Amino acid sequence: MFQLEKLIRENIKKLTPYSSARDEFSGEAKVFLDANENSLGSPLTKWYNRYPDPHQRMVKEKLGMVKGIAPEHIFLGNGSDECIDLLFRSFCEPGRDNVIICPPTYGMYEVSANINDIEIRKAPLLEDFQLDLVHLENLVDANTKLIWLCSPNNPTGNSLNRSDMETVLNNFNGIVVVDEAYINFARQKTFLQELVEYPNLVVMQTFSKAWGLAGLRLGIAFASVAIIDILNKVKPPYNINQATQELALKALDEVGQVNDMIRLLVDMRGALTEIFLAMPTVEKVYPSDANFILVKIKEARKVYEFLLTKGIVLRDRSNVQLCADCLRITVGTEKENTLLVDALQDWYASKTN
Ligand SMILES: *Cc1c(COP(=O)(O)O)cnc(C)c1O
Repeated sequence: MFQLEKLIRENIKKLTPYSSARDEFSGEAKVFLDANENSLGSPLTKWYNRYPDPHQRMVKEKLGMVKGIAPEHIFLGNGSDECIDLLFRSFCEPGRDNVIICPPTYGMYEVSANINDIEIRKAPLLEDFQLDLVHLENLVDANTKLIWLCSPNNPTGNSLNRSDMETVLNNFNGIVVVDEAYINFARQKTFLQELVEYPNLVVMQTFSKAWGLAGLRLGIAFASVAIIDILNKVKPPYNINQATQELALKALDEVGQVNDMIRLLVDMRGALTEIFLAMPTVEKVYPSDANFILVKIKEARKVYEFLLTKGIVLRDRSNVQLCADCLRITVGTEKENTLLVDALQDWYASKTN
């Protein structure tokens, strides 16, 4: 049985959260002398002299419309990185609790666990980059609070089998975090609609990938109202700044443009895959549900360094478990992709001459 009360850290349960000026008064007024802001204004033309809405009501409302999710199921973080950190800080007792990750996967889960002094247990993906459910189950004990699933996974690019993820959700009494940073590029559908069914589910998404707004630092966690309430209690009061809130609102009006970009990136992912497959030095192109492709290539490190001399930088994953000789390649613009393909052909030519 899933009991959220049993998962929350004692100090967080007892915590009286910071009450900001904007929390204590949120009605209509025309003279705001409650927050020690600069009443005269700022060097900027907008209202940046005022603290932003600590609850980001307008952004959540609009995002909720786009996603078909009620605003009270939405938490916004300063990037997914903040959501990850807050999940550790809310549910994991340093030096006692543990969490499970399935490498190769996104590096921040482990870094954030280490920062918070939380034990990391690893159930590596199988050869086909799918979950090892038996290993996963064997790692769970009474102090296992979170299981991190990344789908589509970074750096492998594949989606995890939905039925495997459902097995974890149905059998684990802690919280299952499904990181969907790349979901917009996937053939698989999101777990967002499953929030009603699973009280132990947290779905993470981000404005950094499909929305094209990595510079804003805006990450999203969708979950039950009870879980969202805890994250809100622990977060810094003004974690999403005014500029980010305004720009996110603007971006949320442009769903059509974002969908056009997604379609184009997915098309170019397919075209690049075909081209890589035809290259003699390429040993494997892993099927991708993301906006990047994992490619196994002969002498990966040397290819990586050769491309650097041409001003092209990829992510070298050749030292990562299960990713020997693999490079992770982000889908670029048409022009960038052409430069990459030409450079790879130069590399091959230099080898055969
Ligand atoms: C890029 C990425 C994110 C996004 O992180 P932000 O902090 O929101 O930019 C989250 N999860 C995974 C797996 C990623 O690859």
